[in-house]
Amino acid sequence: MSRHLLRACLSWTAGWPPAVLLLLSLISASPAAGIAQETSPAKAQAEAAPRRPLGEKSFRLHVGRDAFTMRMVGDCGEATTHYVVLHGSEETAPAALRQHLQHYEGCALELVNPGQRWVSFRLGRRKYLFDPNRVFSRAGVEQNLVWLNSRFKRLNRRNRQKVVDEVEQFGQALRRLIAEPRTPGLRVVAVHNNGTQPNASFSFETFVERHGYFHNVQALHYRRDLSPYDLFLVNNPDTYEALMRRDLNVVLEDSARPVDDGSLSVFCSRAGIEYANIETRIGELDTQVRMLDTLREIWDTPGSESPAP
Ligand SMILES: [Zn+2]
Repeated sequence: MSRHLLRACLSWTAGWPPAVLLLLSLISASPAAGIAQETSPAKAQAEAAPRRPLGEKSFRLHVGRDAFTMRMVGDCGEATTHYVVLHGSEETAPAALRQHLQHYEGCALELVNPGQRWVSFRLGRRKYLFDPNRVFSRAGVEQNLVWLNSRFKRLNRRNRQKVVDEVEQFGQALRRLIAEPRTPGLRVVAVHNNGTQPNASFSFETFVERHGYFHNVQALHYRRDLSPYDLFLVNNPDTYEALMRRDLNVVLEDSARPVDDGSLSVFCSRAGIEYANIETRIGELDTQVRMLDTLREIWDTPGSESPAP
């Protein structure tokens, strides 16, 4: 198969503080090459392992007058790979994780919020919305409350602080479940689905078209003949290299200078935790399972492991 490789270095500064250097690999490749299908020794070993019953526990997270359940599948106190599903409307992700965790070590933490991307809660006589993936810093919480609640800015300072405090405490409880106690070698994998809203514009295409979604991009590898909705976002250059060698769509986050949007990825980079995000179109269960398996084949294969950034 002929393969044309075009590498372009683009320096985009507008709207990207600080100036972001993108190494964009636009590749037209064999359509047969997709998410890795071949059986590696790590995958064969994982599939040979007996299916394990996955225990479940529930934790209550309070915010204002409301409370939400965080479901833990497996035991995060022991596991070194913590999978996290924060958006309740992304229903393929938990299903994919149940299949993946039959064969791979790890645990899943899922915020139970059926059909909803955002969390709605009551405080006093008002209702507020926030994105549970923007609660991992106070600055992120404040930005997100302003963005999602048109009346938030009209509150007096004291009431605004009260709302921010509530959401920040929710984020701290979430963070403790995800990252404490800190298992040696802990890795965090956020599992997301896109295409859950009719007008949702998230995809690699929109990113390349400069209607950017990610804030902290160091490099990206994009194959136009793969689905633009299925991609990895990672903060470890070695993991990025390994995924790029497999010719998969991947973004490397600039973990040295992350812009604080309160997301789990920024929290992990600042805390020195290796982080990956697996994005798959809603409903594409098999694809998401393959992507989860592929990441673990890379991480679990001796010699490909590397220290956290
Ligand atoms: Zn999501």
